[in-house]
Amino acid sequence: MDQESRINVAFVNIYQIVPYIEYSNHPRSQFKKCMIHKNNVSYASAQNRSLQCDQLFLSIPGLSYNMEYRNTMNRTFDCLKNDMSFKQHITGIFLGKAFDFRTKHILEIELTNRCSIGCFYCGATTESQSVFLDFDTVCHAITHFSESCQARSIVPHFSVTGGDPLEYPHFERLMTFLKSRKIHFSLKLNPSTLTETIHDMIAEAGCKTVKLTFMGRDSQKTYRKTDTIEKLCNATRRFKADKIPVVWHFSLGEFNREDLLCSLGFVLENQPTAVSVGRLARVGKLNEKNYPMDILPESYKSFLKQMLLYYYNHKRHGFDLVFKDKLWVPFLCEENIISASDLLKPGIRLGCDAKERLLVLTYAGELIRCGLLPEPVLSQIGDMAFFDILGTTTGKPSPIDDAPCMPCKYQPVCRGCKGVAQGSNAMKDPQCWL
Ligand code: SF4
Ligand code: SF4
Repeated sequence: MDQESRINVAFVNIYQIVPYIEYSNHPRSQFKKCMIHKNNVSYASAQNRSLQCDQLFLSIPGLSYNMEYRNTMNRTFDCLKNDMSFKQHITGIFLGKAFDFRTKHILEIELTNRCSIGCFYCGATTESQSVFLDFDTVCHAITHFSESCQARSIVPHFSVTGGDPLEYPHFERLMTFLKSRKIHFSLKLNPSTLTETIHDMIAEAGCKTVKLTFMGRDSQKTYRKTDTIEKLCNATRRFKADKIPVVWHFSLGEFNREDLLCSLGFVLENQPTAVSVGRLARVGKLNEKNYPMDILPESYKSFLKQMLLYYYNHKRHGFDLVFKDKLWVPFLCEENIISASDLLKPGIRLGCDAKERLLVLTYAGELIRCGLLPEPVLSQIGDMAFFDILGTTTGKPSPIDDAPCMPCKYQPVCRGCKGVAQGSNAMKDPQCWL
């Protein structure tokens, strides 16, 4: 046994020490040395917060306890595949998503194309002049979408984004409006433009989730420039202190795939509420020149596998994963982690949200199916049809849209991401390995 993980106990009930061990082993603990006192008597101490052993020995004068401790940090993928309770947990997540797919609809609103970072892969920001959505139109769209969803017993949700939404000149008025209407919304923002005043405004407005982009520990500075690691971590801490969940969104390309995997320990230490993964899509500024190489299907599959294994080993330490990417379903089914028969039941529909339960209002006032699918434009502010389409988010599943996936048994619960397939009806998801 590693000497550093020895715990010396004076007089202690074995049950008192168990929570202590859990605590000292928790990566969230900032303590290098922990002690337990009772009536000024030191009961236990430990030097090392990351106990890397399978057994802990408690030495008590006159007594000796040898307590088995399962090291959950290094379980293998085979352990995961044989862990029935973990498999049930994952199945439950996807059955919950299937329910959500029917009952929760989303309007994403790009308030502006202005963003002081201007990432090379961004679908919304451009080099051209800043454009801002008209404030009254935004409020009208929110009201109309909410009312039409509620009339159909559907939960409306708004995802407020940009560019950088914090650079929208009417941001404060918008927060006041959302608060007054008790609207459910999430925000995708840049930590570098966040100030204390804006932070308080967001918290008071009742924001449900904040999404922050993470590119990997080494890649963050290069690709997110002023959104430094420090600003990301500070913003995370502050929102969490206000009980607003923070999701770190992994913007994934071939260039930062390894960096993201190597950064998982850093993510665990900084404790975002959860992590989501999104692949870069060739829309907006992303082209062959600045992004010549796509992720290969097998590399992507391996990425998902490593993410899942990390989640399995570190879930209990606070690492949570949002299974947002559509290729999770074929991966989990093929690995027998989810039983395909649980998902492939009549009535269960998962997969691409575009137009079925998601609409996006762009900064240019166009209504599209998803931020990664700029074409076709469904309608424009000012068109007679604009509010009709906003009021009936769910389009019928279209076999034409799903053409490349039609022969696949996972089509009803996957369909890949049409955004990364460049919006083409003829092209399969480029990272799909099946
Ligand atoms: S072929 Fe389509 S439905 Fe099947 S796994 Fe691939 S992306 Fe998903
Ligand atoms: S196109 Fe891709 S990102 Fe857009 S809703 Fe479909 S799966 Fe999601």
